[in-house]
Amino acid sequence: MRFDTIWLDARLATLAPDRSGLGIIERGAVAAKDGRIVLAAPLAELPTGWDAINRIVLDGRLVTPGLVDCHTHLVYAGDRAHEFELRLCGASYEEIARAGGGMTTTVKATRAASENDLVAATLPRLDRLLAEGVTTIEVKSGYGLDLETEVRMLRAGRRLARERDVEIVTSFLAAHALPPEANGDKERYIDKVCAMIPVIAESKLADAVDAFCEAIAFSPEQTARVFRAARAAGLPVKLHADQLSNLHGAKLAADFSALSADHLEYTDEEGCTALARAGSVAVLLPGAFYVLREKQVPPVAGLRRHRVPMAIATDSNPGTSPITSLLLVMNMAATLFGLTVDEVVAAVTREAARALGREGQTGTLEPGKLCDLAIWNVERPVDLIYRMGFNSLHARIRRGR
Ligand SMILES: [Zn+2]
Repeated sequence: MRFDTIWLDARLATLAPDRSGLGIIERGAVAAKDGRIVLAAPLAELPTGWDAINRIVLDGRLVTPGLVDCHTHLVYAGDRAHEFELRLCGASYEEIARAGGGMTTTVKATRAASENDLVAATLPRLDRLLAEGVTTIEVKSGYGLDLETEVRMLRAGRRLARERDVEIVTSFLAAHALPPEANGDKERYIDKVCAMIPVIAESKLADAVDAFCEAIAFSPEQTARVFRAARAAGLPVKLHADQLSNLHGAKLAADFSALSADHLEYTDEEGCTALARAGSVAVLLPGAFYVLREKQVPPVAGLRRHRVPMAIATDSNPGTSPITSLLLVMNMAATLFGLTVDEVVAAVTREAARALGREGQTGTLEPGKLCDLAIWNVERPVDLIYRMGFNSLHARIRRGR
């Protein structure tokens, strides 16, 4: 057997579901051919007579699947540093909103930005994620809130995959907030969003439809209308659910067989069972929890009890989670939400891929998957999570290169 590349003498965290825990293989090897994994096995089990164009000895380093950041708002213009500063000087959220701050600031800046501007503003954030071994990233629209700007954001998202060696998955999130020109009429704006969905589906610019179900955003009924339009257009859905209150968003997402329900701080037992039944992934976002200094933690025990797959993500956005480090978020998920080491590593690999419907392509080290790897200058998975602000990436491999 002739491989393109083989990485030898590594500790593999395969995440293969038929192995226990992280599916660790001590003294293992991974081999790639035509961009895909063709072997992930102990050195002792290498086939006789193997050969490779490139052979790389890793001296016991840890190899995980390339990391997956499955919930980001990475594409936007401007920033909200000034509001951060005002809040530190005692201004309330209401005062900032009255002064035209909050998400409106980002919507204005994003509407004024060209596609090139958006790509240029996003690349430095993207590069920080790539430097930590991330190989697949989800990006959402949702700061345009009109068809033209939403399309521009999604185009900018797709462009990122041409500017850098990364897999980009896009979600259409026009149901993120009410635009200022809607004058408080949420029903009419949702009519418009539902009319945008077939256009977006036709353009192939979005891989999924997302919404924000919350008192400050859209009601469960309005969210269901968006989901029905997505279903009619053949697009899967995901949801910002139960972040600030329990509107039974997790249950609603599950009723529409959502890929994921995200945030979930206020999700109850019924929500956990619904997610389990639907096979939807619970995406936990400790960055926003930290920035907003929330007290209510997501129901991790309930999610475990019902075997709901858990993912974590940066939720990188200018307002509530200006974070471009998935490694830091991994520490937060352990420290703030009590996830175990195995749960955290699975949450940024296998389960994050599942939250994007990409579990057949990436997220584990198994033959047939894309050869997306993160090679670390550490030997144990806990070393990725325990330290804060320490990037131990040795090499990032995408599609075998
Ligand atoms: Zn979000």
